Amino acid sequence: MKKISLVVPCYNEEEVIELFYKEIQKVKKDFDNVLFEIIFVNDGSSDNTLKLMRELSKNDDVRYISFSRNFGKEAAMYAGLEASTGDYVAIMDADLQDPPALLKEMYEILESGEYDSVATRRVSRKGEPLIRSFFARKYYKLINKISKTEIVDGARDFRLMTRKMVNSVLSLKEYNRFSKGIFSWVGYRTKWLEYENVERAAGKTKWSFFKLFLYSLESIVAFSTAPLSIASVFGILFCFIAFIIIILIIVRTLIFGDPTSGWPSMACIMFLIGGVQLLCTGIIGQYLSKTYLEIKKRPIYIVAETDEDYKD
Ligand code: UDP
Ligand code: MG
Repeated sequence: MKKISLVVPCYNEEEVIELFYKEIQKVKKDFDNVLFEIIFVNDGSSDNTLKLMRELSKNDDVRYISFSRNFGKEAAMYAGLEASTGDYVAIMDADLQDPPALLKEMYEILESGEYDSVATRRVSRKGEPLIRSFFARKYYKLINKISKTEIVDGARDFRLMTRKMVNSVLSLKEYNRFSKGIFSWVGYRTKWLEYENVERAAGKTKWSFFKLFLYSLESIVAFSTAPLSIASVFGILFCFIAFIIIILIIVRTLIFGDPTSGWPSMACIMFLIGGVQLLCTGIIGQYLSKTYLEIKKRPIYIVAETDEDYKD
């Protein structure tokens, strides 16, 4: 008998968690001879999410892991994957934006043995603020230009994977995690399903524009080292410009003598070059700080409680 694990990161999801459970019970009826295991990961919620998880864990098909604080969705996904025992593992949002009805199709595709993972992407961004969509598009264009790992536009974290792929994903123990990149980096044969954007069942999004912006910077640092070469590019460019200017100035001085003038242009040049230098130092600082965090080898998450503790 095959077993499917559903990993569900939850951060302040008291409004939807029970609804999610009910939807899964409905979907389960379409499967014969398949066991389900739902792993809720409480990512340091400050509302009643944990209480509801404890209640739900009275059902045989529910387990939960509760973090000691908010570690972020990436950490929650990692913890859930680590705890999962299924032959197939899916990652799903609690807010029903990842349609559970797709599970059956995903399962059948993996059962056919032709693919190791079925991933989903939104083809529309309906219901999303316009500037968010705009920046999202630009971001995907940029990252795919500067990273060798393909990051698919509109890709969700919702996907069903074989145990083999899950183990590979878990073998990447980096602290600064960017799963969309990691899934692509580990390889394997992935089938993409497309669907229209579904709006949240209830509650509100945990991602502000600023949080998403920082996340996008993190992903660039995690999957590309191209920004590091910006310093070299500017360096070469400026040397070249300086060389031409030096020749011009020598020639001018020889012909016209040397009247002292031009301090405004000098000030502008100093500001420009100073700015570029600070920018480049900042970029190096970004990579250095990530390296610093990696090298500390801190755990990706800390568990405060699981269903096992609660049952005792
Ligand atoms: N989430 C999490 N930790 C966080 C932020 C979000 O575990 O710090 C979970 C959240 O509970 C939800 C999923 O990640 O199940 C996606 O979050 P959300 O729906 O807010 O994001 P959106 O769908 O708007 O991108
Ligand atoms: Mg959502």
